[in-house]
Amino acid sequence: MRGAVLHAPGDVRVEDREDPRILLPTDAVIRLSATCVCGSDLWPYRGVEAVTGPSPMGHEYVGVVQEVGSEVRNVKPGQFVVGSFFASDNTCPICRAGYQSSCVHREPVGGLGAQAEYLRVPLADGTLVATPETPSDDLLPDLLAASDVLGTGWFGAVAAQVGPGRTVAVVGDGAVGLLAVLAAKRFGAERIIAVSRHESRQKLAIHYGATDIVTERGDEGVARIRDLTGGLGAHSVIEAVGTQESMMQAIRSTRPGGHVGYVGVAHGVELPGEELFFSHVHLHGGPAPVRRFLPELIDLIYKREIDPGKVFDLTLPLEQAAEAYRAMDERRAVKVLLTP
Ligand SMILES: [Zn+2]
Repeated sequence: MRGAVLHAPGDVRVEDREDPRILLPTDAVIRLSATCVCGSDLWPYRGVEAVTGPSPMGHEYVGVVQEVGSEVRNVKPGQFVVGSFFASDNTCPICRAGYQSSCVHREPVGGLGAQAEYLRVPLADGTLVATPETPSDDLLPDLLAASDVLGTGWFGAVAAQVGPGRTVAVVGDGAVGLLAVLAAKRFGAERIIAVSRHESRQKLAIHYGATDIVTERGDEGVARIRDLTGGLGAHSVIEAVGTQESMMQAIRSTRPGGHVGYVGVAHGVELPGEELFFSHVHLHGGPAPVRRFLPELIDLIYKREIDPGKVFDLTLPLEQAAEAYRAMDERRAVKVLLTP
């Protein structure tokens, strides 16, 4: 089969890879209907994360089950399924508490390479959720978004305790930040402040429910959000970048007693203990347990109540994965959908 492989920073190639097959009785193999490039794929692409030899890329996937191992009960060949970036058993105490991305048996899907024609999914019963029926093509981007960025933005809003009457700020205008805006609107936030400098992303943020746009970053961004909230800061702030600057902007934009939901993959972030002590903010976040939300998200997508697929502003054939990475790296595209 064909699949995207990162050889070195900036060097993504689509090449022949071995066809995945069932290795364990709990595995499934799916034929991918759509896949995509994640903002987090840009960390190794940019060399911020070390690249140690050729690495199959991609961890967002929807597709049709081809084959299942002998112990798989919940999904069967022919079904259309959505999964997420950590395989999980969905039965251990951590999964049952809703933290499937910290499952005691979790396995990262990233290393298996979902930017490809086929994918082996470990722990298929716990990981994959079948859709009610084979979706029409126009739902594919929405379902693919559910596989990571929607579920991650959703978790950001849950972790930040977004709810009716609350003022929410979202730091980060990538796909996760934009879909955190969607989630905040869905959860009944009264006011949603999106931090973005890019006009096309601002428009999408407004489409998803943002009521205010802040273009400043860092301390200036904090000052703007405080201005907009009577000097207090927002009740709920979702951090969707993962840098020191964005994390501190999120914490400092939160009012005492408020909540930060951080879902940008942290890189080199160090929190100052004294400032945190006196800030009185709650911090919760981490790799989103997307699996927790998948049934609800799939239902909302099938009812056409949400349109998260709008974050894909470029679609390319899988063979052009290198261009997809370039477009996202240069911020010419918010998120690129790849068709195998
Ligand atoms: Zn588990």
